[in-house]
Amino acid sequence: MDQDGMDPKDWQAFRRQAHRMLEASLDQLEQVRDRPWKPVPESVQQGYAIRGEGGDVVDRITRDVLPYHGGNIHPRFWGWVQGSGLASDLIAGMAGAAINANVGGRDHGAVYMERAVVDWTRTKMGMPEQAGGVLTAGTSQATVIAFQAARVRAMAEVRKTGQQGTRLTAYAGQGVHNATRKAMELLGIGADNLRLVPLMDGQMDGGALARMVAEDRAAGAVPFLMVGTAGSVDLGLFDDLNMLADLASEQNLWLHVDGAFGAWTRIAEDPWYSLTDGLGRADSIALDFHKWMYVGYDCAIALIRNVADQRAAFAARPAYLEGADRGLAGGDPWYCDYGIDLSRGNRAIKVWTALEMHGEAAFAAAITDNCRMAAYMADRVTAAPQMAMGAQVVSNVCVFTARADLEAAAQSALNADIAQTLQETGEAVFSTTRVDGVVMLRAAITNHRTRAADVEAALAAVADLAAR
Ligand SMILES: *Cc1c(COP(=O)(O)O)cnc(C)c1O
Repeated sequence: MDQDGMDPKDWQAFRRQAHRMLEASLDQLEQVRDRPWKPVPESVQQGYAIRGEGGDVVDRITRDVLPYHGGNIHPRFWGWVQGSGLASDLIAGMAGAAINANVGGRDHGAVYMERAVVDWTRTKMGMPEQAGGVLTAGTSQATVIAFQAARVRAMAEVRKTGQQGTRLTAYAGQGVHNATRKAMELLGIGADNLRLVPLMDGQMDGGALARMVAEDRAAGAVPFLMVGTAGSVDLGLFDDLNMLADLASEQNLWLHVDGAFGAWTRIAEDPWYSLTDGLGRADSIALDFHKWMYVGYDCAIALIRNVADQRAAFAARPAYLEGADRGLAGGDPWYCDYGIDLSRGNRAIKVWTALEMHGEAAFAAAITDNCRMAAYMADRVTAAPQMAMGAQVVSNVCVFTARADLEAAAQSALNADIAQTLQETGEAVFSTTRVDGVVMLRAAITNHRTRAADVEAALAAVADLAAR
């Protein structure tokens, strides 16, 4: 092998390839409106098989990869809760690849950049200066990190001894995201020890919660954690976080908030801003950048109110990771002391580039506008003769049925069919959910590209299909 290993032998040729890839990627985003999701043809699926023949792959990527994206970059994509990505990700991605930083620790630029992103986010969420944070793949992973910190606070020796028969219990509202259940499973606490608290007017019922905690204590369990939701995945509901924070301090429980997307109402205008009042009082918050801050997958954060709790749960420096007071092994914190991963990618650069390029105000405006679009969609649904809302719009999620005049089973079949048909025609992407057993169309608008005309066109397409 020559001196530079696997680097290009002909840098001029590689430059041309890279420029072509950049141009194709820019075309993709500039023309995204004309490039909705489409199914991957079988020949293309099979064409992904590794050939390992070497050479210029740019044409292949442009032909076989770019067109078959997941749809979420399109302005009329509102399925599930997915972010739409940003053009700035292209720039961040190039710079990130050129550095190839491992942000587990040590002393280099990406570590400082992540600190800046953690710090900015902490401030926006209203957490105090002694809070700690680490970027993660998603809210799912951030939830595991937060729960482990909560568990170590409840059982100081648990890292060494395990739970030794102690039955820890946690509390969350009905409709809590499965990430909470999964974290309970992964930590060995067990999904049965996640107690689901009934909702009252869409919020966790504090009285019921207190009763369940008392019952569990009487039965010998050790309640340790309460999980509030800021933006439920199904309907975009928000718990009363101030009430939960009061209860948590009364009951000596750790308050975690799943704010995967909804936490970002903290930078929106009122009335949406007020949905997250009390958020900064949480012991931990898990939230995504890749949903409602629009940055490319994957990027999220676990914020822990007291960095000492975070370090107590994760810090460990075996001989091969000893720090130094100067040189590359210097610097503190090392993010390996703050979460699960030792080797970690440079996620912060996506957030940092986006914020530096657009400014916080642009995100605040886009998030506010998404809430307005959901309200606008609800207005249009309400005004349409046969459609009806399935639930009130609280933030950015609009759930409705195309034909309220039909029986439940017929509505379900029709709504499911409309969702699939519109996905396949490329007209719009709704996902579905169930309200009182009826399958309904669901739009979660975390898409800075959506305009009022998109909402109008999508609803017209729904009405068209519903009339057939
Ligand atoms: C998406 C979501 C999660 C899971 O987050 P990931 O980033 O997908 O791991 C958890 N809670 C809520 C409310 C979500 O919307």
